[in-house]
Amino acid sequence: MATLQLKNLKKVYDGGVVAVHGFNIDIKDGEFIVLVGPSGCGKSTTLRMVAGLEDISDGTLMIGDKDCTHLAAKDRDIAMVFQNYALYANMTVYENMAFSLTLRKDNPEDIHKKVMNAAEILGLTNQLNKKPRELSGGQRQRVAMGRSIVRNPKVFLFDEPLSNLDAKLRNSMRREIKLLHHRLGTTMIYVTHDQTEALTLADRIVVMSMGRVQQIGTPYEVYHKPANAFVGYFIGNPSMNFFECRVEGDKLVGKNNFVYQLDADEQAALASRNGNPILMATRPECITLDGEHEYQVDLVEHLGQYSLIHGTMHGYHTIIKVLGWQKIEHGSTIHVGFRKEKVCFFDIDNGARIGG
Ligand code: ADP
Repeated sequence: MATLQLKNLKKVYDGGVVAVHGFNIDIKDGEFIVLVGPSGCGKSTTLRMVAGLEDISDGTLMIGDKDCTHLAAKDRDIAMVFQNYALYANMTVYENMAFSLTLRKDNPEDIHKKVMNAAEILGLTNQLNKKPRELSGGQRQRVAMGRSIVRNPKVFLFDEPLSNLDAKLRNSMRREIKLLHHRLGTTMIYVTHDQTEALTLADRIVVMSMGRVQQIGTPYEVYHKPANAFVGYFIGNPSMNFFECRVEGDKLVGKNNFVYQLDADEQAALASRNGNPILMATRPECITLDGEHEYQVDLVEHLGQYSLIHGTMHGYHTIIKVLGWQKIEHGSTIHVGFRKEKVCFFDIDNGARIGG
């Protein structure tokens, strides 16, 4: 197990593309870190720099007390699990899991113990004589993890390991990875574009956009206190609702006579913005079906436990998420309000959060 320290890690590809601009984080021993962001934001590049699969253009990478910035991948004591499991088709599950140990000529008894232990952890004990083609996608992914576990690495890296699986299997493998982390207690860094995986797996989430870290925080912090409008938009499904308005004394005034009454704390937070435009934002579940704002319903989606209502409030497209099978007709007009403690404000130009 190990701590990691990424200090100002930067990647410039040939041709001058800056894929990662100065990435900083101190990762605790045994921590589960998830890097999340849209395609092309630099998450895989960051992971590959940690793995040693990509040169580090600038900055320092420490694993434990060791400077690994320019160390070869094989000397970093790291195991990486990929999206395509890259199993050897002609080898059994046992042989696939034993492969790296056999290659480095470990003691056969030792190898056997490690493979059996990994198989036990992953529930593969009854599959050891099968070939990969006889396994389901989920089992293959487990074998890929087993290959890493036998090496007892200091750090596990996962690059979108679940993206090839169907939705149900993805959910169950996600839980298995979390349980695996509980069992092994090894430091893990996991890359995904899926905000649900980030929220459910991480001890801390790193949200990235365009090669830059936007926020590092616990799932709770990132969800409830997004550092900027991008994080608010990217984390959470459906996304936050945004309302462009102007601060006018003790009110926010928006389009089509939208007025939001500020309480004392909100007024204090926005005092320096008086007369200026800002973004007000709130999550779909923080809009209530009682209040003074007229809302035109375009569409209701029933998802079993809750319903999503799509429509407009004072001309702003707004999504509402409410518990239960709501009997609301499309085309109807309802009245809605805000859960005040859940409203956020962002700077209109740079998106930074305003207030605490
Ligand atoms: P993500 O994993 O978040 O989808 P990547 O780290 O793969 O993003 O890519 C980040 C940026 O770096 C993108 O703009 C991508 O086009 C660019 N990039 C990735 N690999 C290379 C490469 N080998 N050469 C040049 N540019 C690359």
